[in-house]
Amino acid sequence: MQRSHKRVLVTGGAGFLGSHLCEALLARGHEVLCVDNFFTGSRLNVTHLLSDPRFEVMRHDITFPLFVEVDEIYNLACPASPVHYQHDPVQTTKTSIHGAINMLGLAKRLKAPILQASTSEVYGDPEVHPQTEDYWGRVNPIGPRSCYDEGKRCAETLFFDYNRQHGVNIKVARIFNTYGPRMHPNDGRVVSNFVVQALRGEPITVYGSGKQTRSFCYVSDLIEGLIRLMESPADVTGPINLGNPREFTIRELAELAIRYTGSASEIVLRPLPQDDPRQRRPDIARARELLGWEPTVELEAGLKRTIAYFRNAMADADAGEPSRGLRAAT
Ligand code: NAD
Ligand code: UDP
Ligand code: UDP
Repeated sequence: MQRSHKRVLVTGGAGFLGSHLCEALLARGHEVLCVDNFFTGSRLNVTHLLSDPRFEVMRHDITFPLFVEVDEIYNLACPASPVHYQHDPVQTTKTSIHGAINMLGLAKRLKAPILQASTSEVYGDPEVHPQTEDYWGRVNPIGPRSCYDEGKRCAETLFFDYNRQHGVNIKVARIFNTYGPRMHPNDGRVVSNFVVQALRGEPITVYGSGKQTRSFCYVSDLIEGLIRLMESPADVTGPINLGNPREFTIRELAELAIRYTGSASEIVLRPLPQDDPRQRRPDIARARELLGWEPTVELEAGLKRTIAYFRNAMADADAGEPSRGLRAAT
């Protein structure tokens, strides 16, 4: 039977990016099955979608096999912030590798396209700047970030081997730092840390000199890129960089967070974590050419929306609404 809509599986669907992706897919008329073990995600991220009969949530850990019937798979399940993925590094590696094998086995059985949420971390601390997809990266295989970096690199290997060996239709997106509403307030990532610290009037913790750079993509731009990649012709496998090519130092970001919140917070310097990449900026020529995609939301607009989200969430928490550890400072 021909259906105009698709049944789409989103693993990690209760997380930051996953919840926005579920929302965008529902808005396009698809049915969405959100699979999540709630390690870093939360039901609160998808509560507003539960009244939609086309939306379903299943608690499941993708390191175990999953038998469902769907038309497309987005594999986002994996903790993404250094604090979270280093909390249980063995489980992080299992999620990337065993999880990829299970989701690829599922895609193979169903003959369904599968998209992998890979990462700019596959480039490690790069010598090539900006990073192009043909750069192989400079990754420490035995450091504290390795569970994530090497897990994601091996997952890419598995995706390309399932493609070559079994003809699975794969899509590998290398996602660069993405931010926006529903980031976990305590996961240690730089945008949520700085915004929450500024709103609470607490010191802004810049690690190292603050001269290291990142390029920040607003979540709606990223989600549009993921969906375009999934909808691209079968020969577009990636890897393909998705991110915003405007580069900022971490100190600049701290100053913007202070300015846009109107905060009186001061900047304090803290030790730089081991293996922290010194620079990161995507070359998105491939995404422009193959997907007709590029980011449209400037950091100023995106930060202001993110600040508004955290401000409201803090007010809700203070009023006793269900929250994710967001109370304002007292
Ligand atoms: P997140 O931590 O908010 O979301 C990850 C989700 O996966 C959470 O809901 C978590 O509970 C779930 N999860 C973790 N392990 C699981 C398992 N074994 N089984 C089922 N569910 C599991 O992070 P995010 O920022 O939304 O990242 C989503 C994906 O995008 C991740 O794969 C991440 O590596 C990738 N990514 C994100 C960024 C970014 O800047 N946000 C950058 C590069 C790559
Ligand atoms: N798998 C799954 N759901 C499916 C099909 C497979 O979770 O619908 C898992 C399966 O349990 C296996 C993995 O995916 O561990 C890889 O499957 P594949 O068919 O590639 O390998 P095999 O089953 O031959 O080991
Ligand atoms: N960072 C910082 N202060 C914080 C959190 C992070 O200076 O409170 C820095 C971190 O050292 C890194 C950058 O901000 O250089 C981005 O960190 P994040 O954890 O968000 O992501 P990464 O790109 O390192 O995975």
